[in-house]
Amino acid sequence: MAPSTPTPSGSLSVRDAQACILGKVRPAGTEDVPLEQALGRVLATDVRANRDLPPYDVSAMDGYAVRSADIAAAPATLKIVDDIKAGDMPRVALQPGQCARIMTGAPVPAGADTVVRVEDTRPGLDADGCAEFLIPVPAATDIRRRAENMRQGDVVLPPGAEIVPGAIGVLATVKQAKVTVYRKPRIAILSSGNELEALHEPFNPERIPDANTYTLMAQVQALGIEPDRLGIARDNLAELTGFLERGLEYDVLLISGGTSVGVHDHVRPALAALGVTLHFWRVDMRPGHPVAFGTTDRAFVFCLPGNPVSSMVCFEQFVLPALRALTGHHRLFRRVLPARLTHAVKSRPGRVEFVRVALTRNADGVVEATSAGPQSSGDVLTMARADGLLIVPAASKGLAAGETALVQILEAGAYQDDAGLGDAA
Ligand code: AMP
Ligand code: MG
Repeated sequence: MAPSTPTPSGSLSVRDAQACILGKVRPAGTEDVPLEQALGRVLATDVRANRDLPPYDVSAMDGYAVRSADIAAAPATLKIVDDIKAGDMPRVALQPGQCARIMTGAPVPAGADTVVRVEDTRPGLDADGCAEFLIPVPAATDIRRRAENMRQGDVVLPPGAEIVPGAIGVLATVKQAKVTVYRKPRIAILSSGNELEALHEPFNPERIPDANTYTLMAQVQALGIEPDRLGIARDNLAELTGFLERGLEYDVLLISGGTSVGVHDHVRPALAALGVTLHFWRVDMRPGHPVAFGTTDRAFVFCLPGNPVSSMVCFEQFVLPALRALTGHHRLFRRVLPARLTHAVKSRPGRVEFVRVALTRNADGVVEATSAGPQSSGDVLTMARADGLLIVPAASKGLAAGETALVQILEAGAYQDDAGLGDAA
């Protein structure tokens, strides 16, 4: 066995711990994926337009292509000499006194310099092969110009762009059936503890159900990655070592439990014996203090505290930004927004505190934060109700009702009850 690496002593701030992790994480290579599977991935190359769009000047409306001079003294009647649908090419060039019926997206014929909407013409004259124009319309109205949306050869998406549904539209437009994106890391999840009962094990009232395997799995899945579950390692060095050896074959290993100072907390020494370099252990935060991070030459290892909320909060602060960086994202962190507290929050100075809160908007449009319930680090029920994590600064002795604080928005907090359009729509 490799000589054990001493565990770093002294705890870090959350910021320094994040900097330590992100200083070591780089995107994990690239791969080509079909467009249909590219949503949520990050482009590893730029993407260029392969044609002009629109390919020619087209009508933006259903109406008539005309020479604007012919209707300058509207009302005016013009002879209809063509009927151009989207997908057709015009058959004739317009002469003075002529117009062409034209549909949205159809090419504007030569000779025409503007388009008049159907609404600005009088219906009924069509039968005579004429249309009456009720108002003058200046040149260049309701025409979308050739290459106004994209010009052949232009970069339409830069490398590093996140593939959101709009980007899928761009990629389909430039006919990218395959897209080069950053690879997803392979992730393993391991729970540890003698007291744990697996989801499919028989019910035993004396045991603690393994929640962390599933919360961590869900947190990883929410980032678009399907992790492997390794199971539960008991608190003995030999069994744990076997599990860890398997876990270290992955790009990222997430272990929960057994990272504290108890005599049965074997995770850190077992990792050190397997050649993992531990870069930090313990961060000045609550919940989540005994979190550790290590690397081998190929794997990143996160040791998360066993309490379900601690494990989840540590994932949010450390694992999430690391996985975002590994998958090529530039925005690594959850959105943070100010919210006004509806009640006082107590805090002991020395560690930043993450308080599970529900968010609402009051009648004045101000976002308000209210505790989601008991804040014990074992209370996963509160985590199920939380919209965000309110940040009580490390130096703070607590916050008063009415004070504004920053909240990390969790997935649920990104949605709201009503459309929020008011009278706007
Ligand atoms: P530890 O970090 O191993 O000292 O565990 C701290 C607390 O978290 C203990 O009360 C454990 O029972 C609990 N715990 C550890 N692992 C899990 C898990 N996978 N699911 C739910 N609770 C856990
Ligand atoms: Mg334990």
